[in-house]
This record gives sequence, C-alpha cells and structure tokens, in this order.
Amino acid sequence: MNPLYAAMPVSIFERMSLAAAAHGAVNLGQGFPDFGWPEPLVEEAARLLTHGSNQYPPSRGLPALRQSVADHYRRHQNLDLNADNVLITSGATEAIAAAIFALIEAGDEAIVIAPAYDAYAPLIRRAGGMVREVALRPPHWRINEAALAAAVTSRTRLLVLNNPHNPTGRLFDAAELAAVARVAEAHDLLVLADEVWEHVLPEERSFTPFAALPGMAVRTLKCGSAGKIFSLTGWKVGWLVAPPEIATLAAKAHQFLTFATAPNLQAAVAFGLGQDEWLPIMRRAFTRARDRLADALSKAGYALLPSEGTYFQCVDLTASGISLDDQAFATLAVEQAGVAVIPLSPFYEDAPAANLVRLCFAKKEETIVAGLAAMLRARELASG
Ligand code: GLN
Repeated sequence: MNPLYAAMPVSIFERMSLAAAAHGAVNLGQGFPDFGWPEPLVEEAARLLTHGSNQYPPSRGLPALRQSVADHYRRHQNLDLNADNVLITSGATEAIAAAIFALIEAGDEAIVIAPAYDAYAPLIRRAGGMVREVALRPPHWRINEAALAAAVTSRTRLLVLNNPHNPTGRLFDAAELAAVARVAEAHDLLVLADEVWEHVLPEERSFTPFAALPGMAVRTLKCGSAGKIFSLTGWKVGWLVAPPEIATLAAKAHQFLTFATAPNLQAAVAFGLGQDEWLPIMRRAFTRARDRLADALSKAGYALLPSEGTYFQCVDLTASGISLDDQAFATLAVEQAGVAVIPLSPFYEDAPAANLVRLCFAKKEETIVAGLAAMLRARELASG
C-alpha cells in the first residue's frame, strides 16, 4: 500500500459512525450530543440565513465574532485578549490544521500526548514534521514531566496539549499543567492547547486554560469550538486564540484551507457566546447523563475509569471480565449487540493498552436506555 494512505487512515469516528448506520446500532461512538441545543441560537442562525449575508466573510473571521470570542474568554477565564488574538476557523480541527501548517516545517518535531485526538499526528506529518508520542498510562493517565522532557530534542517546536482530554476524560490538574509549562519554558516550545472541551465539564469541576499559567500566554495557541459549547457539532465553527503575530501566521494557512467560515453561523455564534446563562444548563444535562450512564454500566458489571471532563466515559474491558481487545469488542458491539463505541488503541501510534473503549454519554434518556441494553448484550456475547 502507498505509505501515504497508511499515514492518513480513515478516522475511527467516521468508521464507527458508518458501522452504526450500516448495522442500525445505537451510536455512542463519535462524540456528538443528541439532546438538542439552545433554540434561540438556531432561530438566530435561521434569521441570519434569510436576512444576513451569504457571501464570503473576511477570511480571518467576522469582526463581531472575533470580539465576542475575546470577550467570552475574558469573562470566563480571565484571559487578556482582543479581536487581534482571534482567528475563526471551520471547526476546531481546522484551527489545529492551520496552526500546524503555519508553524511546522520540514524536519521540525512536535510532541503529542497520547492517547491523542486522531487529527494531530497525520497533520504534523503532512506538514513535514515528525511526531514524538508521549504515552499516558491508564488508569490515572497522569502527565509525567520527566517523560515529557525526555521527548524534547533540538528540533522540537510544538507541544500539543488537549485538556480536558479526549478520549480519556481526564482534566489535568495544577501540578501537571505546571509541569507542561516548565518543559515549554525550558525548551522554548509553542503549545497548541486544544481546549475544545473547556465548557463540557461536570458541575463539580472547574477549568484552567493553559494560557493563564505564568508566562504561557505568549507561547500558547488555544483552540475552541462552538460545536462543543452549544451542542452544534455540525456547524463546524471554531477558533484559534494566540498572540497576534502567531494568529496572523495561522490566518495565512487558513486562507488556503477553507478561506472562510459560513457568515450566518459566525454571526449566530457571536450572539450565542454572549448568553452565559446557557452554559450551566448544558453542564447540568451532561452531568446527569454521565451519572445515568455510569451508574447503570457499573451495575451491569462494567469497570469504569473516572470521567472528569468531556462527554466521554471510558470502560476497562479487562477489569470488566472481558478478554477481547478494544477493537474486537467494538466490532462485536456494533455488529452483533447494536451499539457503537470507540476503541482507544487508534489514538496511539504505539498503544501500551488495548483494553479500553470510550462511550459518549451526551445523549437523551431513550438513547442511553437503548445503548445500555445493547451494552448488556455485548457483555454477554463477549463473555460467552
Ligand atoms: N471530537 C469528536 C470525538 O472525539 C469527533 C470529531 C470528528 O469526528 N472529527 O468523538
């Protein structure tokens, strides 16, 4: 096979969603909520589609949205930003691509903390860079400063930090963030802080953006996502927030990726980011759904890892008495039991563990009930 194909595999999210559709399975795989969104936001977008502009917006993003992203982070995260810090992209994945294409040159190295979102490594490679993977280990998934420092070479330019972390559901603590900051400072690295899950937090948790750590704002490129904030993943409106000169560089790469993002959706998101009262409602819904799924899975004999952020719950198959590996279990679950889950091994280049699967709990009651029934069937089939 052409090695370029192997370097860009079909995304595990696409694979599992297609399999769910083909087998009529409940989809607890790819992360997207099915319990709605703030209605006034969709009404505003519909109004703007009819009465707003349908032509190219400025490539860097609508000024109103860039300002409202900056204001949103000032209010919620005390970050000192203005519109010059912001680039609007077609989803956070495009923000990640624009950042990588702007910063990585042939021969550069980038550190990726694995298990890692599946877009990072192929993008780094297609930009001509080399990936250095630092693997976290279950069940605690803690960042180890010595392991991170050991991955740095004279060619390292970028470190990718996803927090809250997909797929593990970890929210890195103050000591771990300080460790990353020390490594970044000591080796003069830029940090791509993929913080798309910043508002998808259980009610008992609070989030620290990486740029808020002492000295880190100047070296941090933060990604955010309206899809995650408003449960509208198909809108593909995201952004990159960085020091103005870095944002400008990424904006140049973005010109040649998508050039611009739908203007009506951008204007609607600018309106939505001002509605702070929507966030606690969403967090309550996610927290309830997490507790609902986790309680029922535990009662059914599944061993769970903690879910501290994101809308994902990881299951330890071995500790649940299932000897199949993650990919075999996911195949059985979707083809025979009627539920799609995401195996974790595709999130590693070199997986130290192949006994974990991820379930998305951002679902309405009936989806969770159907998903749970199928998980019980999967357990019986897998143990039999
Ligand atoms: N972020 C989503 C997830 O982790 C998937 C995004 C995608 O499918 N590209 O499930």
